[in-house]
Amino acid sequence: VAEEKHFSLATATSLSKKLQQIQFADDMQEFTKFPTKTGRRSLSRSISQSSTDSYSSAASYTDSSDDEVSPREKQQTNSKGSSNFCVKNIKQAEFGRREIEIAEQDMSALISLRKRAQGEKPLAGAKIVGCTHITAQTAVLIETLCALGAQCRWSACNIYSTQNEVAAPRLKHGVAVFAWKGESEDDFWWCIDRCVNMDGWQANMILDDGGDLTHWVYKKYPNVFKKIRGIVEESVTGVHRLYQLSKAGKLCVPAMNVNDSVTKQKFDNLYCCRESILDGLKRTTDVMFGGKQVVVCGYGEVGKGCCAALKALGAIVYITEIDPICALQACMDGFRVVKLNEVIRQVDVVITCTGNKNVVTREHLDRMKNSCIVCNMGHSNTEIDVTSLRTPELTWERVRSQVDHVIWPDGKRVVLLAEGRLLNLSCSTVPTFVLSITATTQALALIELYNAPEGRYKQDVYLLPKKMDEYVASLHLPSFDAHLTELTDDQAKYLGLNKNGPFKPNYYR
Ligand code: NAD
Repeated sequence: VAEEKHFSLATATSLSKKLQQIQFADDMQEFTKFPTKTGRRSLSRSISQSSTDSYSSAASYTDSSDDEVSPREKQQTNSKGSSNFCVKNIKQAEFGRREIEIAEQDMSALISLRKRAQGEKPLAGAKIVGCTHITAQTAVLIETLCALGAQCRWSACNIYSTQNEVAAPRLKHGVAVFAWKGESEDDFWWCIDRCVNMDGWQANMILDDGGDLTHWVYKKYPNVFKKIRGIVEESVTGVHRLYQLSKAGKLCVPAMNVNDSVTKQKFDNLYCCRESILDGLKRTTDVMFGGKQVVVCGYGEVGKGCCAALKALGAIVYITEIDPICALQACMDGFRVVKLNEVIRQVDVVITCTGNKNVVTREHLDRMKNSCIVCNMGHSNTEIDVTSLRTPELTWERVRSQVDHVIWPDGKRVVLLAEGRLLNLSCSTVPTFVLSITATTQALALIELYNAPEGRYKQDVYLLPKKMDEYVASLHLPSFDAHLTELTDDQAKYLGLNKNGPFKPNYYR
């Protein structure tokens, strides 16, 4: 009951016009135009490259080879006679529905958001065009947005990540989905175009993951921005792009950087990787970790998650870092900080999680010992220089799905996983609960931007207000039966805080 009082939709957020009793004036001064380190990094790859960094979801139980006919060639209609969608096989809808229901079990925050906003419809009138991974968890998000009043059209942000079965149900509320696993580059842009370019329907909100949709609208339909109230962007790559547009004075609507919300970065990146790194490695290699020597490149959020899991299984973990603060954190956590060259000959596993490129070079690969496993947990497939292994003297042997043995002339084998692409998303599933946190953050960002009064947000990139970040966390606490302590009046005064939050400044990370 105390939590309920503390976290009620109306008091903790400014979710909608109808929920505007929330006092946002104070928070306004804290909205940061966030010059993060990610914001300062340069975009190393083009937008279209980011979308086609393959990443084949092991979470998909249907493969893409069951039918060679392109979905674009097929005549498909749903039970209502509409053909305003394009998926692999509409007949998988029932199976997909079950997958969505399973995901709902662990996404109670979104379900409770639906219940709390019942009747209030904070997204009534919102027409959201989305481009994200199309998985069961995303389907729960989309259906939540619809339950809150939105209309949605959706495409996939990656050519390999779509779970065909969950794309199949023309989702409950008439969402038009254009996506299938194994799209070509041309299909990818065609699907995005079909979502944006629809007679009699014009989007007024964008939810993007990677910036491709935003890029397409800028390139092809700039007039659409006259109606767009805001962009919500989830990924590091897309956020880079938005900051670049903003810097160049070309961003013409407000944008919300969800990637740098605490409830995204400190959860998705850390806990998702802590939970899924071993899964990906074990499913592909059956490796035992006790006593194995592992080097993890990068001790940021993802690196910390991976190392915690590896340490717990008794692996001997080495870290490489460029940043003295993260290096010191690694030391204090009990890891040896080394240069890759110092340990490359002895380690059994190499894992990259830097978000950088060419961290593992051909020279490193040449020096690895026989049977060394090499994989990447960062966003792009450039961290390991896989291209350098495509030379005539090396033989590639596909030994399992997503597992290649690269064989040197002397017989040495290196075990390369997912061709250097995101290991967990390519070779294992990722925990639904963590995606629930990210999805809730996305939903709140959409609600906030859609309902913000004129002038609250300018044509710039913003962080989700701290109060909302805290609200996302609070929605997930009941799953753990966690009981928060309430500040007394005296304590609140002493700390200079409002009893209902925000409890930390916006810069707290
Ligand atoms: P981060 O910025 O917190 O950490 C990256 C770390 O790598 C930093 O500490 C940086 O100093 C270090 N680094 C950079 N170049 C290096 C180099 N050459 N050698 C050694 N260290 C180096 O970022 P993060 O949140 O940990 O994310 C890392 C990557 O993982 C990003 O590409 C991100 O998009 C991706 N990511 C993956 C998943 C997943 O599920 N696999 C989830 C979230 C994020």
